[in-house]
Amino acid sequence: MSQTPQQQDLEGRTALVTGGASGIGLAAARALAGSGAHVVVADVDEAGAQRVADELGGRAWAVDLLDTAALADLSLEVDVLVNNAGIQKVAPIQEFDPADFHRILVLMLESPFLLVRAALPHMYERGWGRVVNVSSVHGLRASPYKSAYVSAKHGLEGLSKTIAMEGAAHGVTSNCVNPGYVRTPLVEKQVADQAKVHGIPESEVVERIMLGETPIKKLVDPEDVGSLVAWLAGPHAAMVTGASYTMDGGWTAR
Ligand code: NAD
Repeated sequence: MSQTPQQQDLEGRTALVTGGASGIGLAAARALAGSGAHVVVADVDEAGAQRVADELGGRAWAVDLLDTAALADLSLEVDVLVNNAGIQKVAPIQEFDPADFHRILVLMLESPFLLVRAALPHMYERGWGRVVNVSSVHGLRASPYKSAYVSAKHGLEGLSKTIAMEGAAHGVTSNCVNPGYVRTPLVEKQVADQAKVHGIPESEVVERIMLGETPIKKLVDPEDVGSLVAWLAGPHAAMVTGASYTMDGGWTAR
């Protein structure tokens, strides 16, 4: 099959995608592979990671990113790091289990820090690296009942900008993508949880809350977020760093 020049953009590069077995991570892994990268699919879902790795001719890394001890002494030889794995929990602060708060902070803020820490020496040595952090509109704005998620994503925004500052002299960029509501298993679970918290049917969560808050009355397709991730890793984004790219149907512009 002939390939356009753009499809070769990441030829010779290795890209690691956390949470690559599902949703946005899967779409990002496919987009990066489509740009020529060798993709490492890191996920706690071992079978899912292997399935995606087989599809893309890449490699699976079965890893629980909550196990920070295992990440502390790691050395990663990757050129593109996509910090994407995430979970969501919806509950009022006074009912929010502190253990859940901690778990979300570890998975969505501490583990990205540890992976970046493990990858930067290789990137600095090669004088080239791309860190793409899958944040959220909740990295920029709050919503009720998502205290841990909003806190972790706001922290990730700060981490991403700090990587951008430190990496600039070494050819390393770091950016966030900030999706609104994306059609993935995570959002399906969130619909069920929000229905309980608000005491309304699930259909109303989608219609009244999710689409009601979104000027373009549609959920985002994961493939579009995946394309944005691959673009941020590609040559046309060489001058983009410390930035946050919303893809939210106008959610943050309201
Ligand atoms: P998803 O549930 O479809 O996929 C998440 C992936 O992360 C799964 O494959 C899961 O196995 C993996 N994962 C979970 N815990 C893990 C762990 N401890 N170690 C390793 N892997 C683990 O979710 P998604 O919607 O694709 O979300 C991906 C990212 O996008 C998250 O960071 C999420 O916050 C962000 N995001 C999602 C939306 C949305 O509407 N879906 C919106 C904005 C941001």
